[in-house]
Amino acid sequence: MLSSSSRIAGLSFRRTLATHASASSEHAAKITRHNWRRQEIKDIYNSPLMDLVFRATSIHRQHHDPQKIQLCTLMNIKTGGCSEDCSYCSQSSRYSTPTTASKLLEVDPVIEAARKAKENGSTRFCMGAAWRDLSGRKRGFERILEMVREVRGMGMEVCTTLGMLTPEQARKLKEAGLTAYNHNLDTSREFYPQVITTRSYDDRLETINAVRDAGISVCSGGILGLGETDADRIGLIWEVSCMPEHPESFPVNALVPIPGTPLENNEPVPHHTLVRTIATARIVLPTTIIRLAAGRNTLSEAEQVMCFMAGANAVFTGDQMLTTPCSPWDEDKALMGRWGLEGMSSFEQSSVARKEGERLAGTSSSQTVETGAKI
Ligand code: SF4
Repeated sequence: MLSSSSRIAGLSFRRTLATHASASSEHAAKITRHNWRRQEIKDIYNSPLMDLVFRATSIHRQHHDPQKIQLCTLMNIKTGGCSEDCSYCSQSSRYSTPTTASKLLEVDPVIEAARKAKENGSTRFCMGAAWRDLSGRKRGFERILEMVREVRGMGMEVCTTLGMLTPEQARKLKEAGLTAYNHNLDTSREFYPQVITTRSYDDRLETINAVRDAGISVCSGGILGLGETDADRIGLIWEVSCMPEHPESFPVNALVPIPGTPLENNEPVPHHTLVRTIATARIVLPTTIIRLAAGRNTLSEAEQVMCFMAGANAVFTGDQMLTTPCSPWDEDKALMGRWGLEGMSSFEQSSVARKEGERLAGTSSSQTVETGAKI
């Protein structure tokens, strides 16, 4: 057990870090660079790993509370039967995989799942639908808007991933209270055509632009283990660094090879490559939340913690992550407790809170903003 003096010392240390993180948020916006050269990112990526992690940790501590991890729960609200050909995905109708297609869920079970996620400490709830886009899905879209309103009404951050969006659809999602939209670039522009052929890199960027223009936070990252090279991982980070605003969230997924997909026999990405990618992203995208996403359950506790040290500060937690296994809440709570980590409150990231604007200012009187329980 800690003595009272060490507890006080610990508290004051934490306060210093937290104060530093919030005081530096305006400064951070000013120093965020959008003119990275690929070679600069390559030099960072190729630096000695211990140096790279140390530098990433230092930058992480300037812009984030290093003890905070955002806990998110991701639910599939419409599974399988997707017309796209993403070669890693179990939900594409082009491949014979163990995933069974189903229709869009009703509102009630989704709200029930969000409530359970909130009770377990998640402060962001993400809903994913397996389809190319929303065209011809007017009633389904109305149902999704209702889900967004309900989840946001619970004081949680709410995110969706629904394929390609038009500016008008993005605007409606924003009006319904959507906090963030996930649309990954997956990999570099050069390697992308070897992974997906049914929609282009520029199609993806167009959706991301529509989301940003609607005032919704952008969640866009990639997948490691697709067969890409270091140059492709560097290219992905470079691509998002050039955006007019850095994505508020950058997911780093490790491929979970699915039997029946073209990538079923891919080798797992080495842990040091995962750490190197996270650390580089942390340095180049200093204010972004780096999200340790699919494949986390294949990592040991020490490997996960190394990712947090390199700058990752969000995880998916719960029963399932789309169609791949996820780390359960209880295990995550225990792990975080052992390492002195705690859950982030909803809207704690200043750039996300800024986009929430007046809606967040009105929250205190009409709703409760979910506070991440210390676990
Ligand atoms: S990743 Fe999304 S768009 Fe691609 S096949 Fe899977 S569900 Fe469809």
